[in-house]
Order: sequence, then structure tokens, then C-alpha cells
Amino acid sequence: MIKYNLVCKKCDLIFDSWFASSLEFDKLKKKELINCHSCGSLRVEKNLMAPKLISKSIRYKNRKKDSFNYKKIKKTISKYQRFIKNNFDYVGENFAYEARSIHYNEKKTEKGIYGTASNKDLKELKDEGIDAQVIPWIENESN
Ligand SMILES: [Zn+2]
Repeated sequence: MIKYNLVCKKCDLIFDSWFASSLEFDKLKKKELINCHSCGSLRVEKNLMAPKLISKSIRYKNRKKDSFNYKKIKKTISKYQRFIKNNFDYVGENFAYEARSIHYNEKKTEKGIYGTASNKDLKELKDEGIDAQVIPWIENESN
């Protein structure tokens, strides 16, 4: 099962929905079986993914700063970053520790967490059945 955060392009309603797989989502979408809970519009799209655990271990350095692609990617990443900053608690280097406490102690938290983790940490977490989403991250360059 996979949970998608969906957004209605017509009335801006954001809601969660479960699907058997990402393939199922595409199939239902094609058949126009996914519509907005509020206005019934078919213009429903996947919102930014909202996994519980996010590690910002990959960093985009300033290289190719001026190229079009970089700007485009950067814009997308900035959008993610804003979303994450608003919806997740920053735990910094304690990411692996916090991820485990949520996983094992069923620490009740509405918010997900984000922070930094090494590849070794991520591999260990994965071995323990804790899946963290790794997303590209741009550090604030100027201010
Ligand atoms: Zn709607």
C-alpha cells in the first residue's frame, strides 16, 4: 500500500488517499476514477510526497549554477525544501537516532522529521526496516 498526498487543481483541496501501488494510481487516474473529495473535479494530482522520514544527505553544490537545468532543478528542490521545513521537524545530525525512536518507541508525532544522515546510517536504518526518503538539498548560499 502506498499513501499519496493528493491536491485538487481546481479548489486546492489537499487530501490523502491509499493505493495498492503507484501503478494503480496511474491506472485509476487514466480511467478518470480519481476525483476531488470536495468539488468532484478530475484535476487531481499527486502532491509533494510526504514520507515520515527525510534525510537530506545529498547536497547540490554550486556547480553549474547558471545553467538552465540547474535553475529548474533548484526551483523544484526549493519547493520541496519549503514544504519540508513547514511540515517536518528538523533534527540535524540526530536523524538516525530520532528515526529509530519514532520507529521503535512508536513515538507519537504528527510531524515527520528531517535531518542529515550518512549513507552508512541510511543503510543500517534500511536493514532495520526503516525507510527514509533521501532528497536533494540545497544549502542557503547567500543569506
Ligand atoms: Zn476540488
